[in-house]
Order: sequence, then C-alpha cells, then structure tokens
Amino acid sequence: MHPITPPLQPILPILLCCDMDRTLIPNGVQPESPEARPRLRALCAHPQIHLVMVTGRHIDLVLEAMTYWDLPHPDFIIGDVGTSVYIPDERTNTWSIWPSWEAEIGPAWNGMTHADIIDLFADIAAITPQGRDRQGVFKASFFTDTAVNTEVLEAELTRRLWTLGIDARLVWSEDEAAGTGLLDVLPANASKLHAIEFLSYQRGYTPDRTVFAGDSGNDLEVLGSHINAVLVANAPAQVRAQACAAVVAAGAEKSLYIAQGGLFGMNGNYSAGVLEGLAHFLPETQPWMQL
Ligand SMILES: [Mg+2]
Repeated sequence: MHPITPPLQPILPILLCCDMDRTLIPNGVQPESPEARPRLRALCAHPQIHLVMVTGRHIDLVLEAMTYWDLPHPDFIIGDVGTSVYIPDERTNTWSIWPSWEAEIGPAWNGMTHADIIDLFADIAAITPQGRDRQGVFKASFFTDTAVNTEVLEAELTRRLWTLGIDARLVWSEDEAAGTGLLDVLPANASKLHAIEFLSYQRGYTPDRTVFAGDSGNDLEVLGSHINAVLVANAPAQVRAQACAAVVAAGAEKSLYIAQGGLFGMNGNYSAGVLEGLAHFLPETQPWMQL
C-alpha cells in the first residue's frame, strides 16, 4: 500500500531572500545534509518562488558560486553588501543594475562613486584599496592597518567625506586568517535590510510573503528586524544570541525562526535550514520540497 499523497495547494508569490556564504553555500565546517540542495532546487523550480541572493559578494563572484555549487537560479541579486541590486535582462540573458535602487541610494554620495572615494583617501597610508573585484559603484573597500587607532582614522575619513557632501557609512571588520583589517565605505542608507525592504515593496510582495535566511554578523540587521527571518542551524552561538536579543528588543520575537533540524530528517544546516524556516513561516511550501 502506498500512502495517499494530498493534492498540492497552489501558492502565492514568495520572495525568498538568502545570504550565500554558509547559508545557501555549505562552505563552513558543519556537514550539509545530502538532500538539502536538491530539495531547495525542487522548491525554487516553482514559478511562484522568487529567489534573491543577498550577499557581500560582487556579481561575478555570485555567478561563479552559483555554478560551482549548483544553486538554483535567482530572480534578483542583491550584491556588494546591499549597494547593488541586479535584475535579469530577458533580451540579452544577462544581469542588469536595477536603476531604481541606484536612484534610492546614489544621492547619499552626492553624484560620486567608489573611484572618487579611493582618490579622496589616496594619501592616507593606513588604508589601501582592495582589488577591483572587491569594489562596487557604491562600495569602496580598503585593507586597513590593524595597529592604527580606528577612532582617529574614522574621524579623519568622515571629515573628508563631509567636505564633499558624501553621506557614508563605514563598516570595519577583520580578516583573521590574513591578519588584516577591512573597511567598507557605503552610502549611509545602503544595507541588506534596506535593499530587501525596497525590493519587496517596489515589486509588490506583502511582508508576510517575504522571508530572509542568514548566518552571520552582517545578517544581524535583517535577522533582528520585523522581516520574517531564519537563522540556519550552523550559525555561530554568538550570532544566535545577538539575533535573539535584537528581536526581543524590537518586540519582534515571532519574526525570527532558528533552524534546529528535523525537516525531512535533515540537519538544519545551510539550505536545509532555509527550507525549515520557510516551512515554518509558510507551511504551504513544504509539499513543494519533495524530491
Ligand atoms: Mg553568510
């Protein structure tokens, strides 16, 4: 006797926004369940599931990773930590910058781009520009000297930016493996969160049908927001604690789901966690994850 499969219910459009590294891509130390990406690909084949890659990566490295890891084809790409949004160009079968997003964040930089900012800081020895594949139109990225006093340096950088009428956000981080500091200079209003909100609203997705998935510090702003979000099970304990504290502070506890494994016997890491979170917020999607 075979169990009777219930008929699949139609689903309304869903905007599924996913971080890439260690969220969709299993490039962390924890194992990936073998069925995770096949089930994700099965789900994303549904015409109403609209996938968005949300990443710090430049578009070339997004496309490279999609091929290498056999990821489903997205409908939109939010790249360069939220400073660029790409939409498919059906005529040429390539990706194009979405002008609406540039019009939203560009004014903060007063007509200037990353090249102007690299020129502006050219004489400052404590920071040196990263390679071309790390730069975006609205993202200027530098290596920094870890020995330098970042408060003093930030004051000088900010002073120079203001003289040109540039309203920027400075994001400092560290590449521990390489022993170097990193600095991203971004338009003040450009972030993963703002890009997701803008895309969702402009393209007519209701808040209850927009879901985000992430794993690390640069996903915290979205994980802690009112947007329905899933933290994959492989996320570091510190990120889990910070995400929980953020939703409590915002009174948005219901909008965060922490994957723990169990869906279809999978472990909740990477794509399995994405699917588990989506099934939590929008249970009608679960039958479409069948292989
Ligand atoms: Mg990540």
